[in-house]
Amino acid sequence: MRHKGLAIWMALLFLGACSARRDATRPPAPAQASAITVRVQRAASGADTWSLTYELPTPSHSVRFTRPGHGSRQSHWRVLEPAGASIERQGDEDVLSAPDGSSFRSLRLEVSTYVEKPEKDYQVFIPYSDGAVLLYTGVLGLTFGEAEPPPLHVFLTPRPGERVVVAGQSSEHEVRWEGSPQGTYAYFGAGSAVQDGVTAVVDPGMPRPLREHIESLLPRLFALYTARTGSPLTFEPALFISFGPSPNPGSINMSGGTLPGLVQLDIRLGANRLADADPEVIPRVSELVAHEAAHLWNGELAVHEVPGGDWMHEGGAEAFSLRALAELGTVPVEYVRTRLSDAVSECLLKLEGAPLRASSRPGKYTNYYRCGLIISAMAEASARQARPGTDIFALWGRLLREVGPRGHYDEARLYAAFSSEGVSQRTLAVIRQLVDGPNVDAEAQVLAELRLLGFEPQACDGDGKLARRTPCVRLGRVPFLP
Ligand SMILES: [Zn+2]
Repeated sequence: MRHKGLAIWMALLFLGACSARRDATRPPAPAQASAITVRVQRAASGADTWSLTYELPTPSHSVRFTRPGHGSRQSHWRVLEPAGASIERQGDEDVLSAPDGSSFRSLRLEVSTYVEKPEKDYQVFIPYSDGAVLLYTGVLGLTFGEAEPPPLHVFLTPRPGERVVVAGQSSEHEVRWEGSPQGTYAYFGAGSAVQDGVTAVVDPGMPRPLREHIESLLPRLFALYTARTGSPLTFEPALFISFGPSPNPGSINMSGGTLPGLVQLDIRLGANRLADADPEVIPRVSELVAHEAAHLWNGELAVHEVPGGDWMHEGGAEAFSLRALAELGTVPVEYVRTRLSDAVSECLLKLEGAPLRASSRPGKYTNYYRCGLIISAMAEASARQARPGTDIFALWGRLLREVGPRGHYDEARLYAAFSSEGVSQRTLAVIRQLVDGPNVDAEAQVLAELRLLGFEPQACDGDGKLARRTPCVRLGRVPFLP
């Protein structure tokens, strides 16, 4: 999910993601006759290479890869068997053909690790600083040309003494994974996994205080989201965080993506950010982790496909993240107040009279985060006026229970859940207006509502007036925090 001001790409294929992940409570089913099997083994040592062995259900003269290779299959993949076969690029597709029209039923390839980030696609290998690597399994898929690629059964084997971590499993032996052609990331390395409500591997090369903080935060964060929404995830979530240096001494660069059941993040810090006590690093990284984790609830346990409805999951994730981190003691209340204040200022500045739902165009996407966060804050404060004990997690918990696991929601269902939890019709009317427009009076209406809800909005310069062209708002208090 995109975050303003950060070198970040998120949200690849986030919406509409559906997945078939392995149900860990059942033993693996025998391979179906029509399935393709691929065994992936990381070479024991020396050159960083991988051996891939495919077994096809029927002999074939050629196979196509289901996902583009961006030229890397020509430069880094070598076909060992059948002899003389090659991978040719045909437009966006890679086709592996045997020589002279002969056919094959098994394939052996050797792949050297490459670190290239294709534009708008998943990076195939993501290195950790200690030599561990994440492998994107989506790159393995093959098809014979039918509309639906055959199921792919993937067997992953780590180096001796190392482990594979994939979809909630962590093993020093071969692991079987079956999933959608969309794929997942599998970890190959010697690092230890956190396994407590989430299976996570955090790069050991990360500055120690940051790593220890994240590793201790994750179980508490997942426990909080689960308990407070009253909605446990129905799948086993995985989270991988790699780390490396950034050439710019002052920078904090964070990037990543989500796949079904999985959050993958890459953190890069400049030399000046490696100090143990850098005050910005822990809150920023924690916020990103908590935001992406929240999407497992609001983008996967339940999903929406509403055009222009991104404010629901982005604003909801921002609210979950700040609310949880304040409660868990990662950030002070003052930090939340500043973030909410900045969100009000930025939302009102950048809407420019347009409906929030029209923010999918370039330069406006951050409105979904900022205005979405304000909507969440207004809803929470409004609900608490009717029911003092409720909070943003209860509001979403109501929705999650009503739509059920993997259920779909839209704005009407979200508003109905909000209303059932005590959000007033007056507040809902302000929210609807912000989402649907017209928004020529958004500033006056939002500030009036914030005032009624107890946020005590003031102009930044303290003169009591908000300049029309540059709204700058400071919230005097956050009614749902001490
Ligand atoms: Zn997001």
